[in-house]
Amino acid sequence: MQKQRYRRIGWPAIAALLIVAFAATLGSVAARQSQSKAQIQSAEKAQTKVVLLGTGTPRPYPDRSGPATAIVVGERAYLVDFGPGVVRRASAAAEKGTPELASTNLKIAFLTHLHSDHTAGYPDLILTPWVMGRTELDVYGPEGLEEMTKHVLEAWWQDIEIRTKGLEQRHALVVRAHDVKPGVVYKDERVTVTVFRVPHGQWPEAFGYRFDTPGKSIVISGDTSPSEEIVAHCQPCDVLIHEVYSPESVLLMPDYKTYRAKYHTSTSELAEIANRTKPGMLVVYHMSGRGPNGRIPDEQMLREIQKTYHGKVVIGHDLEVY
Ligand SMILES: [Zn+2]
Ligand SMILES: [Zn+2]
Repeated sequence: MQKQRYRRIGWPAIAALLIVAFAATLGSVAARQSQSKAQIQSAEKAQTKVVLLGTGTPRPYPDRSGPATAIVVGERAYLVDFGPGVVRRASAAAEKGTPELASTNLKIAFLTHLHSDHTAGYPDLILTPWVMGRTELDVYGPEGLEEMTKHVLEAWWQDIEIRTKGLEQRHALVVRAHDVKPGVVYKDERVTVTVFRVPHGQWPEAFGYRFDTPGKSIVISGDTSPSEEIVAHCQPCDVLIHEVYSPESVLLMPDYKTYRAKYHTSTSELAEIANRTKPGMLVVYHMSGRGPNGRIPDEQMLREIQKTYHGKVVIGHDLEVY
């Protein structure tokens, strides 16, 4: 099925190449082919979209859903993290022009770490698209994901039993969870997904991800303090999606400065990472920025980063597409 879809896209491109080759004189064949190759590459680049489904933190801002990002390549969607609100944000994105994110299409997901803001949407991701007709879900993540999956399925066993054995007659719920280790953890004809470790305080395992698609390389930090692995995996990359906090923000915990230094990345630290990686575009998400006088404005966060980083940078918002 996957191969057939790939062929449907592949043949017109190959046919176009053949027509170009026959119409050309021998001397201009190479030039025309390289022009066509550039066109195909730019078409492939356009085929890869990064859709920000949730750019928030544990704080339940209504305009920032829990962390979730979709990489859409052609007709296929790949999720990274499933914070609260994930399926409804995906449906909103589908209605806004990315139909590949319709709930029944959410079949492959990757998890950065088990923190609740990144996983509170897991029952939603497992159950809602299934009720809508999705047949299978594969999820990849750090150690503990398989156990969490088992517990979610157990917690909802009555719902699953009534929906499958009762009058709804739903098909069986198939969820395959995979605890993975750093390296290439997933590959199909459109995407290669590489996992690397990032430092996130006392979590024994937290991951960042690199996606290589036919036209784009995308690195997602997950939650992390400044990470050499991120620097190593974005050499270069087209899009770096990275978390951040403003040093002017405060948190309700006894020693929040020590906590943050071990768990997260400040605006000046992110600027340094961006200067070392030079991504085509830096997209900032998972922003922790609440000062004593309320929410720190996006413009201030941006200014803090741009003090020392002068490349392309945007503060991400839910449902934006890059
Ligand atoms: Zn988080
Ligand atoms: Zn976290």
